[in-house]
Amino acid sequence: MTVSGKPPYDPANIFAKILSGDIPAKKIYEDEFSLAFHDIQPQAPVHALVIPKGDFVSSADFAANAPAELIVGFHRAVAHVAKELGLEETGYRLISNMGWNSHQEVPHYHVHILGGRPLGPMLAAFP
Ligand code: 5GP
Repeated sequence: MTVSGKPPYDPANIFAKILSGDIPAKKIYEDEFSLAFHDIQPQAPVHALVIPKGDFVSSADFAANAPAELIVGFHRAVAHVAKELGLEETGYRLISNMGWNSHQEVPHYHVHILGGRPLGPMLAAFP
């Protein structure tokens, strides 16, 4: 954490490179707030990722530090992408991993959109 409480952002993370165009992605949608693209290792017939335009490490960082306009625009983009992918009628799951226990791999805030078939229970059996 910095003095301001904002966690440090690694500008070399893979989604920063996709945002800057340094590495390619299969783009689905882009607007002033967000970029959506297909996950490179899909976990469902449809598996998209939506990332905000800005240096945000996680959902917590985004909620605490993003301007309200970006928070609204980003979440509208998530719903728009799900609809554009044809998932609204049959339904879909949103996942956002945050931190160690969640197994977040990429330290740029992102939302997974998963769908295209019945996805089953939310998590593997507990405990
Ligand atoms: P996390 O575990 O951080 O929530 O999810 C990161 C996701 O990013 C994973 O589903 C992984 O497959 C995806 N991913 C990692 N590297 C790349 C990449 O270079 N391109 C794309 N399109 N997806 C990636």
